[in-house]
Amino acid sequence: MEWTIEELARAAKGTIVQRGAVSRFGHISTDSRQVDKDGVFVALHGEARDGHVFVPEVVRRGGGCLVVQRSVAGPKRVSVIRVRDTLKALGDIAHFHRQKLAPRVLAITGSNGKTTTKEMLFSILQRARMEDRPLRGKVLKTEGNYNNLVGLPLTLLRLRGKERAAVVELGTNRPGEIRRLTAIANPDLALITSVAPAHLSGLGTLAGVAREKGAIFRGLDPRGTAVVNLDDGRVVRQSRSFQGRVVTYGTGGFVRGEDPEMLSGGRLRFNLRVGRVREPVRLRLCGMHNVRNAVGAAAMAHAFGADVGAIRTGLEAVRPVAMRMQVERWAGIGVINDAYNANPASMEAALATLKAIPGRGRRVAVLGDMLEMGAGETDCHRQLGETAAGSGLDALYLLGRFARDTRQGALGAGMDRAVVRVVRTHGKLASELRAVLRKGDWVLIKGSRGSAMEKVLAAMKNEG
Ligand code: ATP
Ligand code: MG
Repeated sequence: MEWTIEELARAAKGTIVQRGAVSRFGHISTDSRQVDKDGVFVALHGEARDGHVFVPEVVRRGGGCLVVQRSVAGPKRVSVIRVRDTLKALGDIAHFHRQKLAPRVLAITGSNGKTTTKEMLFSILQRARMEDRPLRGKVLKTEGNYNNLVGLPLTLLRLRGKERAAVVELGTNRPGEIRRLTAIANPDLALITSVAPAHLSGLGTLAGVAREKGAIFRGLDPRGTAVVNLDDGRVVRQSRSFQGRVVTYGTGGFVRGEDPEMLSGGRLRFNLRVGRVREPVRLRLCGMHNVRNAVGAAAMAHAFGADVGAIRTGLEAVRPVAMRMQVERWAGIGVINDAYNANPASMEAALATLKAIPGRGRRVAVLGDMLEMGAGETDCHRQLGETAAGSGLDALYLLGRFARDTRQGALGAGMDRAVVRVVRTHGKLASELRAVLRKGDWVLIKGSRGSAMEKVLAAMKNEG
């Protein structure tokens, strides 16, 4: 896909201030190090860095066009488009591209499980058919966590024209972001996994979170489909104003997961119901909440037109993503590595999983902080301690700024003082665990990204 300068200026809603030597541009990038010859560079003005500073490097690399929000000195061979706000322009360019290539866009937001649901849905679509042709190789997905005002546009700009569908993740930590992301992606199908306390420092209250996530349904084209989780009352309320087609899932929904069961090693089995059809499904993933994610992905796939066979094989092929409820075996010890991130709902889900895994070994939780929780942060950690106290743990290890609050919550809820340990560093924690853990034990390692709890595991393995 090539851009002419006119097309690019129209897409960016900007003005051409300089016409350079090249008339067609290729790859669009926001990272000066990734600009190709005749590529386009969008100079974002970020909090940490100002992209305009890198214009000389872009020119050196042979970049053909600059999209800028203030005047820059570029040699005559380079084209320059001036816009009011380059971040907005990036979204506008991506939207233009998405509209032009017109794949069906499936968008997922929510407090928990977005990436997991996205991966599941992608896996299903790869095995599904559209207008009687296989979709394999014709589906784009968000890579990793590229879900924000920069990541989503860059994802859509990866569309090459052969894709029939795009599965995208929309994330937020500030009000208004989902509204904007929805406008950029213009989804045909939209899903909210859940509304739960996360990013409260940006979104304020739980009602604020609900309103923010709800923007995906308010921005959905009335010809589109809302995929609604009946197990989350807040999600249901957000869907009420949507006038178009609705596909429900969860308890009492059209798509359901029945008789979920956790197998040894943490893997899952359940019966997927799509209307009257029943299909047994086995997941390679750990954690009951992944049945919910699987049912959400199945509902969206069904709404898209995928058949139940593709849904089952797609779900069964999904493997855990690193540090997300990833089960590892180390020296005969079962490790649930969920160090990627944490908030109250995901902590609760992870602790419930640790408790429910079949087997006789002891259960040990190693928890870091939940960050970005806003004003209620100490309360959240006290509650976490209470939840931990009710999770049948044999030992609880805590690290971080809020470790004492969590400990207080745990002791207040009756946990034995002797089994709750606050430790100061990742290294010390690793040594203690090495001394304590025995063959057959199960240990959960979890905390917010900033807590980097994976370091505990790495140190534990390295010491030996
Ligand atoms: P992020 O906001 O970081 O992008 P995400 O919404 O994409 O997160 P995932 O990456 O899919 O979420 O999952 C992160 C963690 O959240 C998982 O490891 C798990 O602990 C927890 N989690 C996933 N799904 C659910 C769910 N449905 N309910 C509660 N917790 C969940
Ligand atoms: Mg994610």
